[in-house]
Amino acid sequence: MSARIAAVLDPQIALMAGGHHAKAMPDRILADPRMANVRALILGEAEPRVVALLEDERRRAELPGVMWRDPLLGTHAAGIPRQSTATALLALDVNTLPLVNRAFLPQDPYTAPDGRIEANIVGSRGCPYNCTFCGAAVSANPDVTIRVRRPESIIEELHALHDEHGVTAFRFVDDLFLGAGRVITEQMAAFTRHGTGDRFVWDATGRINVLDRLTDSELDHLVANGLREVARVRSPGRNRSTKPGVLVRANG
Ligand code: SF4
Repeated sequence: MSARIAAVLDPQIALMAGGHHAKAMPDRILADPRMANVRALILGEAEPRVVALLEDERRRAELPGVMWRDPLLGTHAAGIPRQSTATALLALDVNTLPLVNRAFLPQDPYTAPDGRIEANIVGSRGCPYNCTFCGAAVSANPDVTIRVRRPESIIEELHALHDEHGVTAFRFVDDLFLGAGRVITEQMAAFTRHGTGDRFVWDATGRINVLDRLTDSELDHLVANGLREVARVRSPGRNRSTKPGVLVRANG
């Protein structure tokens, strides 16, 4: 679909592209004649590199994980980073980011089938596991560290979405939000302090081996804090991940 759109754009328009396909098959994308105007194919988390490219397209030569097709040679080129900046550009500190500007996300928040206004949110990036089918697997992302947002920052976003949009249900679409016991403990302590379970419900990505290690009272604590579902399932008419997972109806 992206290639079809790219093919009919004014050739003067320079394109940046990214996402899962960029990560999985960059050479195939750059070889596609419909993508001839892609000046930068960005692999992985893009925020700081997009800023750099918008400032000066020529900076692509020094950016890690940025590829393009040389129009003269027809070969694929890639940025060569200075070692000192590579990590910050590939795995930025998520606690330095502002809250997502939803003005550019017309489908989020949205009204869920149960009538609640629901929003997607990200509480962490990266995953320590290595499922062979998954683009987030640790072996596929050797330069990316696992980063977790401060609980207070997550709470701030929940409340802002409620105050501005009436959101009462949240979907943590992290690679793996419920990914480690000590992180869950810290996050849930903050959720309890702020009475999150009294106001909101939320769904999250999780892994059965992590949940299996939690005690019954820790699982109860998750539910008391609003956890409704641990899942990655396809919902008809909604663009959710098709990644296999476990559906655990916690309540409701
Ligand atoms: S499927 Fe989930 S647990 Fe497995 S590597 Fe991907 S994000 Fe991690």
